[in-house]
Amino acid sequence: MKFRTRAIHVGSEPDATGAVVPPIYLSTTYVQPGPGDWGAFDYSRSGSPTRARVEKAIADLEGAAGALAFSSGMAATHCAMGLLPAGSHIVAGCDMYGGTYRLLHKICNRSNIEVTLVHADQANLIAQAIKPQTKMVWVESIGNPLMSVPDLEQIAEVTKKAGVLLAVDSTFVPPCILRPLELGADIVMHSATKYFGGHSDCLAGALSAKTPELHQQLYFIQNATGSVIGGLEAFLLHRGIKTMELRVREQSASALCIARWLESHPQVQRVMYPGLASHPDHSRARRLMGDQFGGMVSFEVAGDIETAKRVCKGTDLFGLAVSCGAVESLIEQPATMSHASYDPAARAKAGIRDTLVRISVGLEDPEDLIADLDQALKRAGGA
Ligand SMILES: *Cc1c(COP(=O)(O)O)cnc(C)c1O
Repeated sequence: MKFRTRAIHVGSEPDATGAVVPPIYLSTTYVQPGPGDWGAFDYSRSGSPTRARVEKAIADLEGAAGALAFSSGMAATHCAMGLLPAGSHIVAGCDMYGGTYRLLHKICNRSNIEVTLVHADQANLIAQAIKPQTKMVWVESIGNPLMSVPDLEQIAEVTKKAGVLLAVDSTFVPPCILRPLELGADIVMHSATKYFGGHSDCLAGALSAKTPELHQQLYFIQNATGSVIGGLEAFLLHRGIKTMELRVREQSASALCIARWLESHPQVQRVMYPGLASHPDHSRARRLMGDQFGGMVSFEVAGDIETAKRVCKGTDLFGLAVSCGAVESLIEQPATMSHASYDPAARAKAGIRDTLVRISVGLEDPEDLIADLDQALKRAGGA
């Protein structure tokens, strides 16, 4: 069956009552058949019927051996990093979510895990950075916030040859567009807060594993550390997943339209969107993603940091907020918001300028969104 059909039906099979929408189980514990006889569920940190349903749906949509749902995207990322032994080494793409940067440099370093950041859109740089202690390569399928597109197929060849895990944060590119496991990745992470939930009302994360063994190892860490999704969030997440394909298709079309318009705007210096022919990784993005590239667009405004701030403050429809992937459009300035946890030198090295603005395109009419950006740019003025 096709993606949309599976998104609606897998994990949503009617229960014994025939309810078309399965009930939400909030029970934290389950009566046991006998001492030491665990039954299907025992304690909700270890599993619940509501969580099991959404995990089944996610595993199916990612083409995974198994999936796990977490209380947030960072909880999912932290669980994946739990596979790294003390003293090991990780190679990660430098075009990276600020929270992941912070986790690697302020938490994982406490276990002497060494981090090497490279431009992940050049697979040879990843190959060069791998050393005997390397256990994992971590990349984003579209980098945040510069929209670089790594060649996941080529990187998977590198990691296979080196015997290290390839983990992909695919938050910007949901599985209706790209399934990294099919391209050779071992683990896919999603901040399900974004396109999966899709309505800015559910904080959640997901890990999908290529093999049952890896799924089991990750489950062990999740259960041991307790970073699980709650029943209400599992329900909201599952509801969101059912319309993901439709939402993302529309958001991708609107984002392309807005990116093209921005490219022709005199106050915009550079637009970063993989769907634009001017994007350096455009042909690679087409090969990996087809004709949809998601709803995230970054652009540099002419002027300085204050101009960028004025643009972000000047929109009416775009909410000034971090996060992304929901029905309402958002705008933010990475240098002072989503990527403030980078130190300034690392931000400069990664190429994240103060004049950079990032938007998440929602489901409003794109004409209204363009009009809103136009008035904000005009009011912000130039340098
Ligand atoms: C939001 C986000 C995360 C973190 O997810 P939370 O659900 O906020 O914990 C990780 N990676 C990317 C690319 C994100 O956008």
